[in-house]
Amino acid sequence: MKKGQARKAMFSASPVQYREQSIAGRGVFARKRFEPGEVVVAYAPKQRRVDVNDPEAFVAAETKLTLLSDDGSVIIPDTSVPGGWLCNHSCHPNAAIYSSGQGRIQCVRTILPGEEVTIFYGWVSENEPGRDPCRCGAPGCRGTINFDVSDADAQNFARNTAEGEAVRRRLEAYAAFLRAIGQEQVIETVADKLRELERRVRARTAVETSDTGPGVG
Ligand SMILES: [Zn+2]
Repeated sequence: MKKGQARKAMFSASPVQYREQSIAGRGVFARKRFEPGEVVVAYAPKQRRVDVNDPEAFVAAETKLTLLSDDGSVIIPDTSVPGGWLCNHSCHPNAAIYSSGQGRIQCVRTILPGEEVTIFYGWVSENEPGRDPCRCGAPGCRGTINFDVSDADAQNFARNTAEGEAVRRRLEAYAAFLRAIGQEQVIETVADKLRELERRVRARTAVETSDTGPGVG
């Protein structure tokens, strides 16, 4: 075999390719068939790790490309090397992102050669319901990538009131949607965000009460 052929064979063996004609910008496309459970591509073949409390982790989070690994470190992809971090979001994804270890994209339903590999971003926003419009084009597209929780949601969700009931129903509907598309891991992110927001709202309310309350101090 000539040198050039060897190189070509090696390139062809890559299970994915990166193309511009995707849902949004550059995307990841399958070059072979993948079955559920198979690893499709590493999240970031070249990456750096910083501690979760490192100021650099906060700055890098702005890119929305960082991943919190299970060892508590933050994975920052080197974007000069393509990888799973280029996967676009879909409301009916064929793969899922896992942050354990080095981070990986794993198939959740059969992916055929030539198909775009999509994941579910699972972003949870605070008081910004329309923050990330979704144009994935999938049947059942939610219209936005993010799921929003508001200060009112955080205050009401544990309450035994009509408002609390409405928040819980909305969360249950989202959980059912996530289970239907094989992304139940996102439920935990929503629960964490809601608890965090509830703590902050409670702390703020306590400060306001002590500021305005008569005879305090
Ligand atoms: Zn969508």
